[in-house]
Amino acid sequence: MKVVEHLAQAKDTLISFEVLPPLKGKTISSLYDHLNPLMEFKPSWINVTYHRSESMFKKKADGTFEKIEVRKRPGTVGICAAIMNHYKIDAVPHFICGGFTKRETEDALIDLDFLGIDNVLVLRGDAAKNETAFEPDPKGNRYAIDLLKQVGNMNNGIYTDEDIQGGGKTRFCIGVAGYPEKHFEAPNMEIDLQRLKDKVDAGAEYIMTQMFFDNNKFFEFVKACRAMGITVPIIPGLKPITTKKQLSVLPRLFHVDIPTDLSNEIMKCKTDLDAEEAGTKWLLQQSKELKQFGVPVLHYYTLGKPNVIRNVVKELV
Ligand code: FAD
Repeated sequence: MKVVEHLAQAKDTLISFEVLPPLKGKTISSLYDHLNPLMEFKPSWINVTYHRSESMFKKKADGTFEKIEVRKRPGTVGICAAIMNHYKIDAVPHFICGGFTKRETEDALIDLDFLGIDNVLVLRGDAAKNETAFEPDPKGNRYAIDLLKQVGNMNNGIYTDEDIQGGGKTRFCIGVAGYPEKHFEAPNMEIDLQRLKDKVDAGAEYIMTQMFFDNNKFFEFVKACRAMGITVPIIPGLKPITTKKQLSVLPRLFHVDIPTDLSNEIMKCKTDLDAEEAGTKWLLQQSKELKQFGVPVLHYYTLGKPNVIRNVVKELV
């Protein structure tokens, strides 16, 4: 079922989760072990992130180095199919532009369609680790909106292969990312919001946000989107702080602010266990307030911490 169909049928705030594919070498049971504690909350769907390959230098026997491409977390499409089979729950794969040609993307979308997966969250992806700025594959999509248009074309039976006339129409429900604190490359919020509106005008049916720790940033973002004429559902993405180190790591990696009250609480903590407790408390408070605000879904980035998410969600349902 499509994300928008879940939203249309919802009688209360829905719950959804996001997982990363296990590191290469681990089996699918490690993912089930991660998800099992969360299944009692009957999530409406589960998102599965996508990870591009990285260039690495491997030392050879003769002492020289060889450049190799390594994908540490492969398997997004297979994991989505596994989740749907195992739990009978919808899965939402993330698809990225970076590192893929349009043809490779098309083939992967065909796999999704054949597997009965009718959702996709389209993203640009970040720069590869050896690049200073994002560079698309020469035969790939540059921005999320370009990938979105490719999926939209397939929904209309148009494929990159011009020999295919009257191709089968896929039926993907397309989501996109939004940034309550602005995407870090956008010159200002207004331009970022205009680009978000462009994605919605091009066919995005809902927006899923970057994590944020200050609900006011989300409320202002929703207000600004509505003022611009963006009417699609906006789903807040939520993550707990669970270590003291994250006070500097999260702002650096995700370009988000940690509110003073939260950073003060975390800085007071003696151990990471204390930090996890403070982070859990904060996330619960955030979730309660967002629910009261009337968000359609509370979407949790579980990222290795299913028990923290469990402790929060059990207080909400
Ligand atoms: P875009 O919408 O393409 O925007 C990227 C930047 O380009 C923005 O600054 C925008 O303002 C600007 N821009 C857009 N259109 C134009 C234009 N026409 N001309 C000039 N500038 C333009 N990354 C992964 O690798 N895998 C994942 O699974 C993943 N999941 C994510 C899930 C969520 C909910 C979020 C919020 C992010 C996720 N990311 C993931 C990270 C994401 O790929 C990065 O944040 C990336 O830098 C931007 O992606 P985007 O889809 O927002 O890009």
